Amino acid sequence: MTYLAVPIKVVDPDQAGVALGQAVDAGAEMIELRLDFLAHPDPQTVCKVVTTAREKGKPVIAACRPPWEGGSFAGDESTRYQILGAAVKAGADYLDIELACFDNPSFNLKNLLVSSSCKVIISNHDFDIKPADLTDRLKNIILHNPTVSKLAFRSHNINDNFAALDIIYEQNKAGRGVIALAMGQAGVISRLLARKLGAFLTFASLSEGFESAEGQLTVKKMRETYRWDHVNAHTSIFGVIGFPIAHSMSPAVHNAAFSETGFNGLYLPMPVEPAKEVFFDYVDGLIKRKWLDVRGLSVTIPHKQFALEYIRQRHGKLEPLAQKIGAVNTIIINNCGEVSGYNTDYAGALDALTEALHIGRKELENMRTAVIGAGGVARAIVAGLSEYGCPVTIYNRTVAKAQRLADEFDCNYASLSELRDLSADLLVNATSIGMYPAIVATPVPAELLRKEMVVFDSVYNPIKTKLLCEAKQIGAKIIDGVSMFVNQASAQFELFTGRKAPLGLLRKVMEIQLK
Ligand code: NAP
Repeated sequence: MTYLAVPIKVVDPDQAGVALGQAVDAGAEMIELRLDFLAHPDPQTVCKVVTTAREKGKPVIAACRPPWEGGSFAGDESTRYQILGAAVKAGADYLDIELACFDNPSFNLKNLLVSSSCKVIISNHDFDIKPADLTDRLKNIILHNPTVSKLAFRSHNINDNFAALDIIYEQNKAGRGVIALAMGQAGVISRLLARKLGAFLTFASLSEGFESAEGQLTVKKMRETYRWDHVNAHTSIFGVIGFPIAHSMSPAVHNAAFSETGFNGLYLPMPVEPAKEVFFDYVDGLIKRKWLDVRGLSVTIPHKQFALEYIRQRHGKLEPLAQKIGAVNTIIINNCGEVSGYNTDYAGALDALTEALHIGRKELENMRTAVIGAGGVARAIVAGLSEYGCPVTIYNRTVAKAQRLADEFDCNYASLSELRDLSADLLVNATSIGMYPAIVATPVPAELLRKEMVVFDSVYNPIKTKLLCEAKQIGAKIIDGVSMFVNQASAQFELFTGRKAPLGLLRKVMEIQLK
C-alpha cells in the first residue's frame, strides 16, 4: 500500500487536534507530525501531540527536522534526540531520522528503537539540486537497514523526475520500502506516480498554502482530480506536455472521463521546458521505461512542432492532416514503444461545428467562412475547413501572416478593416480577443453581425464572450470555445482508450473549472 500522507506543522499543541481532524476528514491515510514547528518543544508537549495524532486512527510519522536538513528546530542535537525519543515512547509508528545522524557520535536513539515497535525511515534531503551522488546516498541509507529509505531532492527540469522514479521502481522490485521525491513544480509527476510504482507514501498538503515542500498538491486534488483511490500497478499513464501547464484543464477533464468510463488510467500535468532537447529527452525517457505504462500524451503550446518532429525522427505514423497543419497535439505509444502523432484541434473545431449545426463534415463545403486570426488555432481550423472544401477568407491584424496561411490552404485573405464588408455564413474568432481578463473586447463590432450567421468563438474563458453575447442578442446561432476544447479532448480520449468519451461530463467538468 502507498499511503497518502499529510504533514502537520504543529505550532500550538492545543490546536493540533483540529488540524489532524481536518487532515483525516480530507482523506489523509497517514500523518507526518513535524515537531520542529512546535513553539515550545519539550518531551511532555511532544507526548501530548503524538497521543492526539494516534487517537485519529492513522499511522503517525514523527519528524523533527534540523535547519541543516531544511527544518525549523532551533535547539541542539541532544535536545532534538530527546524530542524524537519522547515521540517513540508516546507511540509514534514511524520515526524519520536524517541520514547524517548516523555519523553523529551523540546520536543515542538506536537502543530505544530496537526495543520499541517504532519503525525507522532514514531520510536525506537536498533543497537546491538533484545531487549527482543520489545512488551513493541511497546505498548509505540502506546500510542502516531502515524500514523505509527516503530521498527528496530539488528538481529544476522535468527530466530530473526519472532519478526518483527509477529509485522507487528498483527499490520496490527489491521489496524495500522507499520514498523518492523530486521537489519543486517540475517534480509533480514523482508525487503522482508514487502509488502506481509502489512507493511507501506520497505527501499531500491539507490545503493550499500548507505545503511542507514545493510541488505538493492538496489531499483533495490528489483524491478528486488525480484518482488516488483508483491508481494501482496496472494503471496506464497519460499526460499533457506544455509550459506553463499548472492551469491546464486537461488533467481534470481526462481524469474525470477515466472515472466515468471505468478506464484504469491516470492523466498528469507535465511541465516540459520550452526546448526541443528537453522535450525529446522527456518523451524518450518515458517510453524507455516500459514499466511506467505511458500510453498517450497531449501536447500543447509551445511543443506541438517539437512533437511533429519527434514523430518524424522516431519514424512514427503521422496523421496526414497533422503533417499539413505542421503540429501534433496527441502522441500515442503502443505496446512496443512505437509512436504515432495526431492533431485533434482541427477535429475538435469541426466536431463542435457539425454537432451544433446537425450536419456532416461534407456539408461544410457550402458555408462561406470568415476566420479571424492566423495563429496556431486559426491554422488548425483553416486546415480542417479547407479539407472539407469550405470556402474560407482569413482576416488578420498582421496581413502578411493571413496571406501565408491562405496560400498554404488555398484560401482568400484580407485585413481586419475589410471585415466591414463581411458577408459570411460562418464567422470564426481564432484570435485571443475577448479572452479573460480583457473580456470587454470583441474582434467584430456588433453592427457587422447578422442574424443568419453562425458565430463560433474559439475563446473559452469566458465561455460567453462579448462576441457570442452580441451575436446571440441579434438571434444568430452561436458556438462557444468550450465545445471545441471538449471535442478535441474527446477525440484524444478515444485515441487514448479506444472508448467513446462522455462528452456531457467533459463539458460539465470544464464549466466547473471555468467558474
Ligand atoms: P496565437 O498563435 O498566438 O495567435 C493569436 C492570433 O490572435 C493572431 O492571429 C494574432 O494576430 C491575433 N491577435 C492577438 N491579439 C490581437 C489583437 N489585440 N488584435 C488583433 N488580433 C490579435 O494563439 P493561438 O494559439 O492561435 O490561440 C488563439 C486563441 O484560441 C487563444 O487565445 C485561446 O483563447 C483560443 N484557444 C482555444 C482553444 C479551444 O480548444 N477552444 C484551444 C487553444 C486556444 P497577429 O498575427 O497579428 O499577431
